Amino acid sequence: MARRDGLLTHDLNPNEKGPQDACGVFGVWAPGEQVAKLTYFGLYALQHRGQESAGIAASDGGRMVVYKDMGLVSQVFTEDILETLTGHIAVGHCRYSTTGTSRWENAQPTFRTTAQGHIALAHNGNLVNTKELDDSLEAEPARRSGRPRPTTDTEVLTRLLAAHPDLSIEAAAVKVLPNVKGAFSLVFMDEGTLYAARDPQGIRPLVLGKLEHGWVVASETAALDIVGAAFIREIEPGELIAIDESGLRTQRFAEAAPKHCLFEYVYLARPDTVLAGKSVHAVRVAVGRRLAKEHPVDADLVIPVPESGTPAAVGYAQGSGIPFAQGLVKNAYVGRTFIQPSQTLRQLGIRLKLNPLREVIAGKKLVVVDDSIVRGNTQRAIVRMLREAGAAEVHVRISSPPVQWPCFYGIDFATRAELIATGLGVEEIRKSIDADSLGYVSQEGLIECTQVATELLCKACFDGEYPIELPASDLIGKHILDGIAKTVEADAEVHQALRLP
Ligand code: SF4
Repeated sequence: MARRDGLLTHDLNPNEKGPQDACGVFGVWAPGEQVAKLTYFGLYALQHRGQESAGIAASDGGRMVVYKDMGLVSQVFTEDILETLTGHIAVGHCRYSTTGTSRWENAQPTFRTTAQGHIALAHNGNLVNTKELDDSLEAEPARRSGRPRPTTDTEVLTRLLAAHPDLSIEAAAVKVLPNVKGAFSLVFMDEGTLYAARDPQGIRPLVLGKLEHGWVVASETAALDIVGAAFIREIEPGELIAIDESGLRTQRFAEAAPKHCLFEYVYLARPDTVLAGKSVHAVRVAVGRRLAKEHPVDADLVIPVPESGTPAAVGYAQGSGIPFAQGLVKNAYVGRTFIQPSQTLRQLGIRLKLNPLREVIAGKKLVVVDDSIVRGNTQRAIVRMLREAGAAEVHVRISSPPVQWPCFYGIDFATRAELIATGLGVEEIRKSIDADSLGYVSQEGLIECTQVATELLCKACFDGEYPIELPASDLIGKHILDGIAKTVEADAEVHQALRLP
């Protein structure tokens, strides 16, 4: 059974591992609308960003209720539950955590009691100074009374916003957010106001939309479309907005220093989302054309690894003149493979997810287009599957450069030790996945296709240049709040060990 969180406090177990998120957030302020249902459908459109838990907070101006549970949005909410989430303000969240900390207490929106009422908060991103922020909570009355410590960066942030009895939530946000480092696209609320804020680098997307009688904030424009909201603009990096009966007001809590996530274009965002004024689908098709130019090959068919490889495969077919075909059928109800929590499940996930169309593939020289290679397990399994289905040759083309570095800003690919491109060259990866040839699009080619200036992008997972300074290695990591800091150096050491003959 799901637990109603309306007036509950969180009992967090400090021994649990801290999660990293790549989530979807949604908020709505709309008197006269069924805001919980709008939020449900907004989250439904953002389900690809997080599939482990979902939650909605709603307020009627006097009473705030939060409902959250493990599972997909459609599994967590029923018509009856949504009916109980009444009011004119709501925020919602769908979550993807890693390393096994997928549990109810870490689901969002987070909820805290404040001096004036309550706060509910939904976060997409990952903070890099979580330990420092957590330490600054030492004076918190709840901490002094021995209550359990938070195990997520989002919970730390919520507690910080709630820890100013003399300030409104809006004033507390202006005070707290300049000290918060890392990636955060936030949607939060008190009983009467909807807030949204984006980190100064604008790492994760966050957009503002307008309903006939209200406002919507969402991770992606595709979520505006599904609720019939018109896109107004992106929330600016370093901007805080507040929406209540007085209208929408905006202020800066920090100077903008944009470093938008390049990987959103490759994989994370929906193809029907618009980022920085460009259709993600159009960018992916352009990358496929570029890939054909950079890595041509003599073949009979171009097939995508569905769904995220499809636009680039279309582009590759256009650029090369080789016919496009669907050679792999995806079970749409199985989650993305790199969100599976264990190696065993990941392997099973690949088998569950894709099935080859033998009559299309048999005897053909194939170009197989995928969006990225993380560990290499997916591509190895696909190549094997295609050969077993009778493919004469399998040429793998990847619409991103090699992923060589972990992300500390809200995506959990893997540790450095698990990333196949760390320490292995393209030819070694080709051998490892048993492809006849392998080609990645260049970083320069990918960036040109986004039409975003390179200095405005984060590309750290490709080149290791982190735009937001990372703290000392013992002050960052998935388990930092557990006191089990897993460090970059430690990962590198493990990696070296794994490469030993
Ligand atoms: S490291 Fe990669 S995935 Fe993470 S924010 Fe930067 S570009 Fe995006």
